[in-house]
Amino acid sequence: MRGLDPSVAAGGEGAPARCPYCGGTNTEREHPKGPSLCRSIHFCADCEEPFEAMG
Ligand SMILES: [Zn+2]
Repeated sequence: MRGLDPSVAAGGEGAPARCPYCGGTNTEREHPKGPSLCRSIHFCADCEEPFEAMG
């Protein structure tokens, strides 16, 4: 695992994901094609990098 802060997972739906690169929450949720189980794709506006996040 990548050592994400478990407290982030308690944010619930609608809470911005925390960027694993810079730790910021200036992120947007992407809409991947196909079934997404418990992961979602987010995009950090600061790093300009996509990342996966739980929930
Ligand atoms: Zn970032």
